[in-house]
Order: sequence, then C-alpha cells, then structure tokens
Amino acid sequence: MESDPQTGEGTLWRWLVRRVDSDYFPEGAEAVKRQPDRFEWKRCVPFLFLHLGCLGVAWTGWSWSAVGVAVFLYVIRMFAITGFYHRYFSHRTFRTSRWAQFLFAVWGNLAVQRGALWWASVHRHHHRHSDQEEDVHSPLVSGFWWSHIGWMTSSRNFPTDYGAVKDLAKYPELVFLNRFDMLVPLLMAGVLYGVGAILGANGVPTSGWQMVVWGFFISTVVLLHGTLMINSLAHVFGRKRFATGDDSRNSLFLALITLGEGWHNNHHRFMHAARQGFYWWEIDLTYYGLKLLSWLGVIWDLRPVPAEVYQEAKTRAGLEGAA
Ligand SMILES: [Zn+2]
Ligand SMILES: [Zn+2]
Repeated sequence: MESDPQTGEGTLWRWLVRRVDSDYFPEGAEAVKRQPDRFEWKRCVPFLFLHLGCLGVAWTGWSWSAVGVAVFLYVIRMFAITGFYHRYFSHRTFRTSRWAQFLFAVWGNLAVQRGALWWASVHRHHHRHSDQEEDVHSPLVSGFWWSHIGWMTSSRNFPTDYGAVKDLAKYPELVFLNRFDMLVPLLMAGVLYGVGAILGANGVPTSGWQMVVWGFFISTVVLLHGTLMINSLAHVFGRKRFATGDDSRNSLFLALITLGEGWHNNHHRFMHAARQGFYWWEIDLTYYGLKLLSWLGVIWDLRPVPAEVYQEAKTRAGLEGAA
C-alpha cells in the first residue's frame, strides 16, 4: 500500500487504522523492501512482549483447565499453520470453497504469525532460493539465530510481497485479514479472558488473566518457536532422502512437534503434495486431519506424491544400501 497523499491531515480514525495496518509504510513498501537486511530492536518489541507475557505465570499460577486450553490451542493452531498457511495458501496442495478458504485464513490468524498472504509470500520465496544467498532464513547462509528469528526483525522482510501471491491477493477478504493481522489474535485474547473469568466465577480454579497467560502468551510462544524450528533446525538436523540441492532434512522429532512438518526433505523434493510424510510410518498428523476434512467434503483434490518421486526414493535407498 503506497502512502496516502493526504498524510499529515488525517483524522484520528485514519491515524489509528494506520497503526494496526501491516500494509502501511510512510516511506512506501517498496522502499522498505530495498533496505539492507539487519537485526532491528524496534521489531523485537512484539516478540519481547509475547515472551515477557509468559512471566505473568508467576502471578497467575497454573490450573489444569488453563494448561489444557494452552495445549488445545497449540495443537489446533499448529494444524492451521501447517495445514492451511503452509499446505494450502503457500502451496495450494488441495482445493476448497471460498468460504472455507476465508475461515482457514481466520483460523491461521489465531496463531499470531501474521496474515496468510505474508506467510505464503515469504515461504514461496524460501522454496525458490532454499539455502542460497537470497534465502530469507537459511541457517547455512546466515547462522542459526538469524534463520530462527533474526530475519523476522529485519524491516525489509516485513511488507507482504503481493506479487508472489497474486492467486491469493485477488480475494479482498484475505487481503483484509492480511493487513489487519492483529484483529483476530486480540479477539482471541479477549475471549480467553472472558472464558477464564466466567469459569472462575463458577467455581473452576482459574481466572481471566490465568487463561490469557497460558492460552495466549505461553501457547503462542511455544507455537512460534515450534514453527520457526522448521526454518532453522529442519535444515540442520535429520536425514536427507532426496538430493534437493538444499540442506533440508527429515526428522521424526520435528514432525511430531509440528504435526508433520518435520519431513522437510520430502517436502522440498515435492512441495505440491498434501502429505509430507511420504510413507505410512512417517507420522504426519496434519495430513490425517486434512484427510478427515476431505471426507467431510470441506476440502478436495488433495494432491498425491507422484510415482516417479517414490521411484526416486527407492533408487536412492538402493544406492545407499549398495554403498
Ligand atoms: Zn525449508
Ligand atoms: Zn513449503
């Protein structure tokens, strides 16, 4: 979004809207994208806020209901990240209706990892330049911390590259959710406070703030680092089945904590498949969830792994066995 020609004489409403509009840059998005890549303290503030919020547990304590909500929110939001932000919006590995697509984008927004269009544009860029100089988050090129979280503090990675997501940017409702990506998370925090307060008032040993600390802060921080580990650790630890030209790996541990994203070498070999565990023994909980949604008729045309990719896996395994 280019800067408004009436800058300086805006109303209070316009001023407020700009503060929460991820597409608003006074100097223009293109100028921001041309800035040098660097670690920036001002963009650390939201992350510091999220992490400091977890310390609230010292005041609120814990309860089974609050921890249960945190775990539940971790699982359903990780599913939204891998099943929708990654396998649907980034790679279009299945099809769905416009309504379901909108709900998937809202569901993904709950994860507090910005909008689907920003997420997909960064991710498509990663696949185009995996572990090369241009890769936004390569542990090989820029080291662990940069690939894990440093890249998100660099202003140049903040604007959405709408040119990379033209297929999604034609839906105004998705663009809206992408611009105002904090609306859904704020709503979630408010609902958590309300639920905790109501439960507390009805004899359940919890409170509004306890629900916010566990359901919003702790769950979101663990979810964030779980997701980011695919950028950092899944290009370092694990086995390589395919020669993909990058350093992506397959790891059962990462697959378990990310509901299937740990089969990252498989994914880099064929990113268009709805499944990332290519065999029944490669546990891919997101794929089972997507299968369920397809049986319910919510999504369809899940793209399979092509026969030649399986053949390639077999041939390479044979070569390794003979070596
Ligand atoms: Zn990767
Ligand atoms: Zn991908």
